[in-house]
Amino acid sequence: MSFDLPEACSFLFHTLLNPSVLDKAYVKNQLATLLRSICSSLAARKLSVSSSHFAPTLRAIMRQWAEKVMSPPPTHEAFRPLTVLAGWRCACKHCTPVRDFLMHSSEETWTGRIGRQNVNHVVAQLGNHAQSAAVWQGLPSRKNGEALGLEVSNPDEPHDTRPRLKT
Ligand SMILES: [Zn+2]
Repeated sequence: MSFDLPEACSFLFHTLLNPSVLDKAYVKNQLATLLRSICSSLAARKLSVSSSHFAPTLRAIMRQWAEKVMSPPPTHEAFRPLTVLAGWRCACKHCTPVRDFLMHSSEETWTGRIGRQNVNHVVAQLGNHAQSAAVWQGLPSRKNGEALGLEVSNPDEPHDTRPRLKT
């Protein structure tokens, strides 16, 4: 590879960065090797890594590395709520809307005044099948405090442990 012809290098990098299969193994074996050789060649020639001919390639490799090698595989955790809910098979007229809400709704809360027995039933189902996918509480009746209604919420991404950007 000739670093004296930066345009040719850019073309070569473009080809290397766009293989038919860009997977973790390719990033680890090919791109990481390329990254090391670019950096050491640049250093040997006292060229800057921020040179416009090389910087985009280096950034692209780092990005691929961060996405495909450092990060966990397509987060199992992120999909867990839905996987868990898949075990909730009761199709009664009280479970169905709650399950639909948890799986499909972007609303924060579902509430239903469905009566004490039905609350107990749905809460039991939630406990068995939606532990990690929902938070819920009984809504007490105004008369005697019995839970005649139910409030179900999507948990606030409890499995998302990525640092949040402060705004
Ligand atoms: Zn049910």
